Amino acid sequence: MRFGINTLDDLDVKDKTVLCRIDINQPVDQKTGTLKDTTRIEACIPTLKELTGKGAKLVLLAHQGSDIEYKNFYTTEPHATVLSKLLGKEVRFIDDVCGPAARAAVRALKGGEILLLDNVRFVAEEQTLFETKLLLSHEEQAKTLLVRKLAPLADLYVCDAFAAAHRDQPSLCGFEQILPSAMGRLFEEEFCVISGIMEKPERPCVFVLGGAKINDAFLMMNTVLSGGIADRVLTGGLVGEVLLWADDKDIGEGARSFIKKEGYEGLVGTAKALLAAYRDRVLMPEDFAAVREGRRAEYPLGAIPAGALVLDIGTGTAARYQAEIRRAKTVFVNGPMGVFEEEATEQGTRMVWDALGDTAAYTVIGGGDSITATKKYGKTKDIDYICTGGGALIRFLTGEELPVVKALRHGSKISPRR
Ligand code: ADP
Ligand code: MG
Repeated sequence: MRFGINTLDDLDVKDKTVLCRIDINQPVDQKTGTLKDTTRIEACIPTLKELTGKGAKLVLLAHQGSDIEYKNFYTTEPHATVLSKLLGKEVRFIDDVCGPAARAAVRALKGGEILLLDNVRFVAEEQTLFETKLLLSHEEQAKTLLVRKLAPLADLYVCDAFAAAHRDQPSLCGFEQILPSAMGRLFEEEFCVISGIMEKPERPCVFVLGGAKINDAFLMMNTVLSGGIADRVLTGGLVGEVLLWADDKDIGEGARSFIKKEGYEGLVGTAKALLAAYRDRVLMPEDFAAVREGRRAEYPLGAIPAGALVLDIGTGTAARYQAEIRRAKTVFVNGPMGVFEEEATEQGTRMVWDALGDTAAYTVIGGGDSITATKKYGKTKDIDYICTGGGALIRFLTGEELPVVKALRHGSKISPRR
């Protein structure tokens, strides 16, 4: 038991039917029916090996894409092929989620065997539309078709889908109302790493917040500053720009119109409130870079020319941030310092990531683009923890209780049938 949730150490799975929800949602090439990336599938292998090694009859539940990104909404059949290869044993697939064919396949399983069911989001109640338009309580989720049909065939429920822990859906929150539950090893690692930072970070604890998701960044700032978790917040990207705007600094007409166009002007007020309360712990850029005639041009704050659109922090700011990162004992990063995808505006991000690579601090990175930057700068091995669950991680750091965490705590109190 960790943080109120059972781990795999707390369950006896031998010859038990275990429903295991994993997050193996990956970009698919629908023309060839293959996956373009398998990172998430690789990440859940330790849990699956442990469960089958201990003799579980393992039933895997997973989603692929959704109605809002229809080009990725697809069967989980290709995932079974990848899983089989990675596990070195057959993972059976059935093109049914909880109908008679799926249930017969579940009943036929023997200890140590694995079955992957089809995309759980093919079932209407699991759909994202359902989640946004009609929010079901966890008790109600236990009455949905998926849970009603599958729970009676199972002894235990394991969730290893931390990347989906912010989703309030039957395959994630319904089974814990009925079955004794636990988190898998990947979930345990991701959840305990970030819970550890939030409860007792080694100090100085530095948060580096950049990128374009300003609202999320401000919510995170508020949580970690008001809770006394962050000793320093280093800001970059659009997050830094909006803070400076709120501080009546001139970030240039280009940046202001961009922020207005993206609909973030309303966040200037939020930024003012953050600065009023926590100014002493928030660091903002003191210089910037823009592109002039195809090249990088740097300007100190207060001297940004009218026509320039700033797209990166300047090297002076980046050097100051490097020193903070090298002095820290814990560093959490979400969001790049600028448009690091372009050569002229990548230097701020590159310099900050260099410091992340060589600091002695415990380093944690989350967010799709931040992970891309980590790979681009060859720092993957140097970062202590790279969190696969971007959305869930951010939701957690904004201080919300994750629905799946709540459900797992409930399911951890149910005793197994003898
Ligand atoms: P993550 O995916 O790591 O959570 P975000 O999605 O919030 O990060 O932000 C990454 C995106 O923000 C990148 O596409 C990057 O080009 C863009 N970006 C960063 N800084 C700026 C800036 N100053 N102006 C415009 N876009 C920016
Ligand atoms: Mg992103």
